[in-house]
Amino acid sequence: MPTMQLVFASRNPGKIKEIQDLLRPFDVQVLSAGELDVPAVEETGETFEENALLKAVAVSKASGLPAIADDSGLCVHALKDAPGVHTARFAEKCGGYSQAFDALLKEVANKDASAHFACVIAFAFPNGTTQTFSGRVDGTLVPPEGMDGFGFDPIFMPNGYNMTFAQMPADEKNKISHRGQAVAAFLEKFQDFIEK
Ligand code: IMP
Repeated sequence: MPTMQLVFASRNPGKIKEIQDLLRPFDVQVLSAGELDVPAVEETGETFEENALLKAVAVSKASGLPAIADDSGLCVHALKDAPGVHTARFAEKCGGYSQAFDALLKEVANKDASAHFACVIAFAFPNGTTQTFSGRVDGTLVPPEGMDGFGFDPIFMPNGYNMTFAQMPADEKNKISHRGQAVAAFLEKFQDFIEK
C-alpha cells in the first residue's frame, strides 16, 4: 500500500497513464483530477508556468493533497512564438490537427521554419508551496511524416535528427522531448522529497 497520494491535475487519459508509469518506481499512488471530482481549471495564464501553476494549485487546494500539472505547446519562431500557450485552442480553431499543420506550414513557407516545444510541470502542496520544472526542445517544421506520437509530432523534426517526433520510437522521443526533460527534473526533486 503506497504511503503517499499525489493528484495529477489532468483529465487526459494518455497523460495520466504516462505520469502513473513514470512514478511507478516510487512509493506513491497517483490519482487523477477526474477520479477525485475536483472542478476543471480554466487556463487563463499567459505563460506555460502560470497555467501549470493555476492547475496544480487549484487541484491541490480542492483535494487537500499534493498535486502536479503540466502545460505545454508549440512555439513557432517566425510567428513570435505563437501559438504557444494557445496551441490546443489553435488546433481546435483550425478544425483539427491536419488543418492546423497546413495553416502553420503555410505561415512558414519560404521563411524561417524553426520552432520549439515547451513544457512546464508544476508541483503544489495544500499549504501553498509550489515548484516548477521546465523543458524545451528545438527543431524545424516540416511536411507531416510518421504515425506515432500525438498532436503536432508529425510536423516537428528535432534538431540533429532526420525524422519527425511521429517517426521516432516513444522512448527515443521521451529522452529528448520538452516533457521528458521537465519530468526528469521533477523526478530528481520528487525523489528527494519522498525519501525524506
Ligand atoms: P496541453 O499541454 O495538453 O495543453 O497541450 C497543448 C498543445 O500542445 C496540444 O495541442 C498538444 O497537441 C500540443 N503538444 C504538447 N506537447 C506536444 C508533444 O509532445 N507533441 C505534439 N504536440 C504537443
